[in-house]
Amino acid sequence: MNTNTYFSATYDEARERFLASAHRQQAVIAHHQHPTARGPQGLPLFLDTAWVGPRDAHAVLVTASGTHGAEGFAGSAAQLAWLSERGQASLPPGVALLMIHAVNPYGFAWGLRGTHDNVDLNRNWLDFSEACPENTLYEQIHPYLCPAEIKPSTVNRLMEEGARLIAKYGRWALEDAISRGQYTHPDGFHYGGAHPDWSRTVLQEVFQKELRHAPRIGFIDWHTGPVGNGELIYLCFSSPQSRQWQEAQRWWGPDALDPAKVDRLWGSKRPSRVGIMFWGLEKLVAPAGDLVGGIIEFRSAQPKANSIDALKISMLERWLRFEGGFDAPEAAHYFALLQNEYAPSRESWRAAVLQNGLTAYDQTLAGLARWGLASAAD
Ligand SMILES: [Zn+2]
Repeated sequence: MNTNTYFSATYDEARERFLASAHRQQAVIAHHQHPTARGPQGLPLFLDTAWVGPRDAHAVLVTASGTHGAEGFAGSAAQLAWLSERGQASLPPGVALLMIHAVNPYGFAWGLRGTHDNVDLNRNWLDFSEACPENTLYEQIHPYLCPAEIKPSTVNRLMEEGARLIAKYGRWALEDAISRGQYTHPDGFHYGGAHPDWSRTVLQEVFQKELRHAPRIGFIDWHTGPVGNGELIYLCFSSPQSRQWQEAQRWWGPDALDPAKVDRLWGSKRPSRVGIMFWGLEKLVAPAGDLVGGIIEFRSAQPKANSIDALKISMLERWLRFEGGFDAPEAAHYFALLQNEYAPSRESWRAAVLQNGLTAYDQTLAGLARWGLASAAD
């Protein structure tokens, strides 16, 4: 497999290839243009969907790429690889596939994780008529995460404050506070927003329109991040040992969801989360439909020489957005560092993503075709 066939250099190229390939599979295609956000050179931005297979399928696999923008290069490549290497003819009877390309096209096009409003889409699925979850520890560390300049002295100040808070609350509590989602600082880390984001609204419409009659829905939201070389981390957000959890385990293997294994692949004990997409969609399809699956991460980052380098990476995106701007002298270097973290050009990584991505598609589609049979036989 030539990885360049599936890994695109830009969002526009990825979109063009996705639409062409979906068209060749006689997919039913729909386009949703972002009303205000633009990409580089002022280009318009779209979330596109492609339905492959029978319209009245009783089971549908939904796969999404680019929920975290820049992470979409891998998810898009996996979608494209399935369309070309497998395609409609490979679908089990009664099963269809709905691909959602570029959930967050702004982040995808610019090489950032958040939306044009700096919203983390995987923290945005809350009922905003109610009070948002608090995150007081985040508020304490926020000023140190957001320096006007990223340089040894400001990173050191963050390390010192971090050490003080770790001594008081523990390392996991601090890491969890930084990443689980916060609703008080629109210019901060993992900001969940103040209202349903455009991408969420579009996804809700797509689910309501396309999946009304599908009682069984499989879901894979492709992400990248933790240190590694394309290995998969299966993250299931159904309540542990629930019927849906057990179904996902049947698809993905007896130890795929084992918390100890997941933590090892993740690189540390998994933080908690609030407002994630899976729970929002799960609620949307219930009670008529069952949603099974979750996030699959392709491990992508390279090990950092020290914790200063690791912390620096996490500070780049908000610095580009709120401090230096996309035209700052440092910007090109910072964008390249982010790309190397979430969508590296390493050939071995790209080959592993395609191979492991196709394996996950095969497992999940086969599982969907068998769904319910195992429990009926018990
Ligand atoms: Zn992600």
